[in-house]
Amino acid sequence: STDLNTLVDEYVRLAYHGLRAKDKSFNAKIKSELDPNVGKISVVPQDIGRVILNLLTNAFYAVDLKKKENPDSYSPEVFVRTSKKEKGIDIEVGDNGNGIPGEALEKIFQPFYTTKPTGQGTGLGLSMSYDIITTGHGGEIKVTSKEGQGTTFRIFLPVK
Ligand code: ADP
Ligand code: MG
Repeated sequence: STDLNTLVDEYVRLAYHGLRAKDKSFNAKIKSELDPNVGKISVVPQDIGRVILNLLTNAFYAVDLKKKENPDSYSPEVFVRTSKKEKGIDIEVGDNGNGIPGEALEKIFQPFYTTKPTGQGTGLGLSMSYDIITTGHGGEIKVTSKEGQGTTFRIFLPVK
């Protein structure tokens, strides 16, 4: 069993510092709201870690892109939230980037779908994440996005 908040926190640091090491100018406000009632749950920690890393990498990419388009008038923000529910736990990863257009929303979980320049994205992050959460853990992963305003991914992991 895994202390989920500790896992999430580790991967938030890993993602942020990994990016900062490559790009010293990268900056984003990260809001973490980790519900202490989440506790320990039975998951494959490396797999859930990889999902969180994928979602955060995408979120940081999105806010970085928007910052480069609006250097003076935009404050990049990423949030991570865990919450205890009746039958499991929720993990949310959100950003205030440019969002995802409606027609793309249906494709983002497909393998090799990417809008990133060659070399910057494989298009495999979300399809892998989808498999890990659904097939691997019996959970759900959903996205909501508003163009120009941002994107939020919500994961539900059932607890037996
Ligand atoms: P990759 O990151 O290699 O492109 P992913 O499977 O992680 O592959 O994501 C697929 C696509 O979904 C991205 O190329 C991008 O178009 C879109 N996407 C994913 N997350 C976000 C986000 N937080 N904000 C905007 N677009 C996103
Ligand atoms: Mg990705």
